[in-house]
Amino acid sequence: MSRPRIVIVGAGFAGYRTARVLSRLTRHQARITLLNPTDYFLYLPLLPQVAAGILEPRRVTVSLSATLRDVRLVLGEADAVDLDGRTVHYSGPEGDPGTLHFDRLVLAAGSVNKLLPVPGVAEHAHGFRGLPEALYLRDQVTRQMELAAAEDDPKSCSARCTFVVVGAGYTGTEVAAQGQLFTAAQARGRPLKPRWLLLDIADRVLPELDERLSRTADKVLRERGVDVRTGTSVKEATHAGVLLSDGEFIDTRTLVWCVGVRPDPLAESLGLPMERGRLLVDPHLQVPGRPELFACGDAAAVPDLERPGSYTPMTAQHAWRQGKVAARNVAASLGVGERRAYRHRDMGFAVDLGGVKAAANPLGLPLSGVAAGAVTRGYHLAAMPGNRVRVAADWLLDAVLPRQAVQLGLVRSWSVPLDTASPELARVPGKPEKPVEDQMNEPAKNQPGGEPAKNQPGGEPAKNQPGGEPAKNQPGGEPAKNQPGGEHTEAPGPVKQEDIPPDPRPGRPAEGDS
Ligand SMILES: Cc1cc2nc3c(=O)[nH]c(=O)nc-3n(C[C@H](O)[C@H](O)[C@H](O)COP(=O)(O)OP(=O)(O)OC[C@H]3O[C@@H](n4cnc5c(N)ncnc54)[C@H](O)[C@@H]3O)c2cc1C
Repeated sequence: MSRPRIVIVGAGFAGYRTARVLSRLTRHQARITLLNPTDYFLYLPLLPQVAAGILEPRRVTVSLSATLRDVRLVLGEADAVDLDGRTVHYSGPEGDPGTLHFDRLVLAAGSVNKLLPVPGVAEHAHGFRGLPEALYLRDQVTRQMELAAAEDDPKSCSARCTFVVVGAGYTGTEVAAQGQLFTAAQARGRPLKPRWLLLDIADRVLPELDERLSRTADKVLRERGVDVRTGTSVKEATHAGVLLSDGEFIDTRTLVWCVGVRPDPLAESLGLPMERGRLLVDPHLQVPGRPELFACGDAAAVPDLERPGSYTPMTAQHAWRQGKVAARNVAASLGVGERRAYRHRDMGFAVDLGGVKAAANPLGLPLSGVAAGAVTRGYHLAAMPGNRVRVAADWLLDAVLPRQAVQLGLVRSWSVPLDTASPELARVPGKPEKPVEDQMNEPAKNQPGGEPAKNQPGGEPAKNQPGGEPAKNQPGGEPAKNQPGGEHTEAPGPVKQEDIPPDPRPGRPAEGDS
């Protein structure tokens, strides 16, 4: 009899763990295929440290083929799933289409940047969801500091030295905290005054986390000079800066969009019941009425048995543990072992604020300062499925050597558009990307041959700009037509109101950034 075919879509926290546990449980009795656009697992919680130049990018990755020996890795992105035909259609890295047949399918495609219908944001902001975006930010920050140093005009100099982060969830808070230290180091001995702003519509930073963590983070950020603006959001973004909801216009060339994430659009394309954009599953991580389909991680709405009536938040902690349960239940559905329901109590949270500081509450115990810093780094080392020694070595080097602030310019502004279903991949010329909502309507995407559109995120590369000077109509690029103060009645570009799950508090950081 032929071996059952198990296909796992996505090799993040949930999918990677599913593959690892399944290969142990099934012991070659099943054919396990992992479909992922990259050949690595990405440890997202350390991404802000890549943007701040502390960790080299490969440190936060773990090779899939080297660590999942009995799993067949297929490089590509799932474009469509035919549940009745039991096939997944995908596009390979060179645009070549492919099809995978399955007896069991685990959907673990994670999440993408969340958009809000704010004029100019899709064009002028960059997200923070993948390695390309982190590398872009690292270079952009360094480049702006270098350009500022050479500026004769004090106003332009100040705009280049101003960095605006929107969304004070854990991602935005860490990006601002680490970024501030990074630019302070670059400004040393130079007449530059870097300024970081952290905005959130909520009334405190880390609004989704314990209030004590909020207070610690707020104190550290303010002491460090980060301009924390709660109860404030962005009304409009232009090439020259951002118009805040309180009417103030901030001149800046850098707008980082960390308002949260939303599930990968692949889940939505299945046409099955959803909960706020996530695929609805039962406590066994199985889609009701579809015994062959399992889902876990950010892409799945998993009932939280610890908090009846709610769903588990989008965190690495849950995704990692759900991966294990999904593996057990897939194996059980093939006659190996017993299935079980997913139940997990939060173990606390850790927010690295850079230097030796952090805010953490392991097992509910609130910690700040150096103790929190040590716990946070220890936690990350323990949680990473590989590359620990290299990460620890980078931390050690960072503690004793000045940080290396050079921009390689390998990831350009246009190659990391905010509105993308593939934040894990930098775009390359000749590979057009369609807006998120179009991508799921066609069987194959990212076909080669087309030209990126001009003046769009992901459009034509900026000309004659070393290191990827922002493209036209990007912050720092050529003047855009929409100036602050203009009237806007509809969302810009590809952002659509229906992309956004209903939220009782408009503008509140997205579920998932908690
Ligand atoms: C900057 C940042 C910091 C974070 N820090 C923390 C933290 O400190 N603590 C915490 O608990 N959580 C944190 N999170 C959240 C956490 O990383 C996510 O909740 C977690 O990654 C979800 O795991 P997942 O497996 O569902 O998705 P992911 O880890 O995102 O993995 C999804 C995988 O699916 C792949 N994929 C996507 N679409 C397709 C497709 N169509 N076909 C095939 N493959 C596809 C992706 O390439 C990726 O490999 C952070 C997130 C970010 C962005």
